[in-house]
Order: sequence, then C-alpha cells, then structure tokens
Amino acid sequence: MELPNEQSSFKDHLRKLRPKNLKNLDKKNCLMALTIIVLIGCIVTILKVNEIKTRAFSIKFGDEILGTIRDKEEAQKLIDQIEKELASTYDVEIVLDKKLDFIDTHAKDEEIITETDLRKKIKSKLTFLVSGYVLQIDGKDIGAFKTKKEADELLYAVKSPYIEEINENSNIEEVTFVEDVKVVKKDIPLSNIKSIEEVKSVIATGTSEEKTHIVEEGESYWTIAAKNNMTVDELISANPGKDPEKIYLGDEISLIVPKPLITIATVEEVQYEQELAYETKIEQNTSMYKNEKKVKVKGVKGKSNILAKITKHNGVEVGRKIIKEEIISKPVDELIVKGTKKLPLTAATGAFIVPTRGSLSSRYGMRWGRMHKGIDLAARVGTPINAADGGTVTFAGYKGAFGYLVEINHGNGYVTRYGHCSKIYVKKGAKVYKGQKIAAIGNTGRSTGPHLHFEVIKNGVHQNPSKYVGK
Ligand SMILES: [Zn+2]
Repeated sequence: MELPNEQSSFKDHLRKLRPKNLKNLDKKNCLMALTIIVLIGCIVTILKVNEIKTRAFSIKFGDEILGTIRDKEEAQKLIDQIEKELASTYDVEIVLDKKLDFIDTHAKDEEIITETDLRKKIKSKLTFLVSGYVLQIDGKDIGAFKTKKEADELLYAVKSPYIEEINENSNIEEVTFVEDVKVVKKDIPLSNIKSIEEVKSVIATGTSEEKTHIVEEGESYWTIAAKNNMTVDELISANPGKDPEKIYLGDEISLIVPKPLITIATVEEVQYEQELAYETKIEQNTSMYKNEKKVKVKGVKGKSNILAKITKHNGVEVGRKIIKEEIISKPVDELIVKGTKKLPLTAATGAFIVPTRGSLSSRYGMRWGRMHKGIDLAARVGTPINAADGGTVTFAGYKGAFGYLVEINHGNGYVTRYGHCSKIYVKKGAKVYKGQKIAAIGNTGRSTGPHLHFEVIKNGVHQNPSKYVGK
C-alpha cells in the first residue's frame, strides 16, 4: 500500500510552504494592491453609469418594429414629410395602410436609429395606400385611377366608337353596359394606379398580357397560326386592321385573341326606306301550249318608310323593333299567263333520240383533210330511220353527195339532216313526231357502204351529234 503514504507526504509539504510565503509579503506591497483594487472598482462603476438606458420609443407600424427613437415628434415629422413627398411626387392623396404606434421603452444611445436609416426603412417597409378610383366589372377590379375624371374619361372612350359611328338617320337613345360597370372610391396600393390607355387595352383584349410574333422569312398567317396553335380566324381577330395577305419580314403580329370585358349596348332610333316585295300570280290559258308562258303584268316593288329601334351589342345588331311603318307605294303583283293545252306530238321536245339502230362508223370532225359535219351510223340497207325529234320536214329528195336526204326543222333553233337514204317516207311540209319512221338506210350519194349520215344544226351552225344522242 504505497499510494496513501505518498499523498500524506505531499500535504505535509504544502503545510510547510504557506506560512513561509505569507510572511514574505511586506506592508508596502499590500497597500499598493489595495489601491489597484479600488481603482478598478471605480472604472467599473463609471462604465456602469455609461451603460444606463434612458427613455426612448419603439416605432411600431402594424406588427413590425421599425426602430427606436428618442423623440416621438421627430419621428412623426419624418413620416409626415415622407407622406408629403410621395403625395407631391405622385399627385395623389396618401393614406397609411397600417396603424402607427409608439411604445415606451428605454434604450442606449447606440440603439437609437439614425434618421437616414429610419427614412430608408419607412420607404422600403411601408406600403402606402392611395385614395383612388377603381373600375369594377361584375365586381372584379380591372384597374384604378388617381381621379374619378380619368375613370369617366376611360368609360367614355370605351363607349365613343359606338356613339360616333351613328349616321344622320339615327338617334342614339341609350348607351349602357351589359356588364355591371362601377367606379368605386377605394384606398389602394400606389402600384395599382394605371393609365387610361393601359386599362383601355385590358378592357379591349380581356388581358394585360402581351404576346407577339415577329414575322420571319417565308411566313404567312397560316404558318404563324399553326405554329402558335391558333386558327387563322383567331389570328385575324387578334390583329384588327391588318391585311392577312400583306405581312412583311419583321412585322409584329399579336397572338392575343381579344375577349372584350365590356359590352356596349346601344339602342338607336333609325329611320329608313324599305322595299316591299311583290307577289307573283299565275293565270291559266287553255289556248296556249303547256310549254308557253307570258308575263301579262310586270311586278313592281313597293316602298315603305320605317321607324325602328335597333339594339346593338358592341356595334352588332341583336334586336330590331319596328315602331312605325308608313307605306309610300304599294307593290304591284306580277301576273303570268301559262298555257294548259297539250303539246302536239309533232312539237319538238328539245331532246333527240338516236335516229337508227347501227354502229358509229365515223365521228364528227376532220376526216381526210375535210370537215365531216355529222356522224355515220352503219346498218343494213332498209333499216328504218326515225325522226330524232318532232318537227316539220323542210327537204325530202335527192341532194348531190347526200344522196336521198330528209331535213327536219324542229322549230326551236334546231335542224336535223338524214343522208344516203334508200327510201324516203315523208314529203316536204309534213309534220313528223319524235321517233316517226321517215326513211330507210341506203348507200346513195357519195357513200362507200350502207349508212346514215346524221347532222345536227343549231341556229345555222353544225354541232357534234354525238353530244346529243350519246353515240
Ligand atoms: Zn357522213
């Protein structure tokens, strides 16, 4: 057990040392130490006196402490001064949006905020409300103005296009807004104050957003619309007054389709002349053929003077009420006489049938350097030839290269000819009906085999018969 022995010997050593050291301090040294202690005490006291907090005020604005000041009045003066500055800068009445309070406190000098810092804080932290006029559409704030005059000016500017367009025959009786449009006096943040033009644009387009496209080389309304997920019609309405066919490199095209926030309803009293339509009456006549028609009395339109109230929304008519109608002249009914008599069989129907059986052996047109003025239909000699339509026989006999020929005048501008016949069954002057057998196929005249040479002549000019008979 060596440890306790060692400890006791160390304590003994200390006991021996202490009385020896104290004895070494003399009285002079003792006095000097005392003086130093007193001096230190004095300095500490002086310092403590300097630390004492004195009466001050914390500036409280809403929930926020802006700083501490000594003089309430100085702070109030500063705030009044800032208010005045803002009021004169923006030419508006300034209203503080939060309550200003001063809280009694004590503060050291270094805790007091400088005027420069306080001014900065007030300007950055405080939001000032100005007393302005807010335009509300259906309860929604659209824009705010400094004065009521500006709000009224804007509303007039919105209405005026629909008032000024009116001509001398119209009288605007009423101009109203379809929406609930109000101008309300309200305290609002200064930044909400807008210019008339800004609010006008919002009302016209329905948005304050601006989106444009600068025309690049080779672009058209169609490519721009496709690029921006719009239709061409939308692009046209987004750019009123611009010709979609005339856009040039660098042009600015708006991509905002306007959705006006205000609808102007106008009621105008309009006076105008109106035409009165006539009726058409038909009189039947037994001595006239069914296809005959005659105007007995020509119809004449009448005229009346109308006084009407027209309601328009943004210039587009939505309603019309006739208030007074004064007839200036009555319309005259038109009278048409129509035949009822059945047409004679020999009258032309206006449509041709194929005059004979047989195949098309030669077309209409140039052939061997000469004009072939009809079509050739080949069939055996003796095959019947029928009148293509009703009419009067104007030739029946032998005629040079045609050989035996029948010519029929249909009385409607058309003449048909049938050539190279072997037999003719009709005489000149005879009335024939459509489909009546008039001759037989032959090989007479300038002909190289039995066929019918068929011609159609309209008002003296040869036609292609194929167009009429489908051969
Ligand atoms: Zn021929």
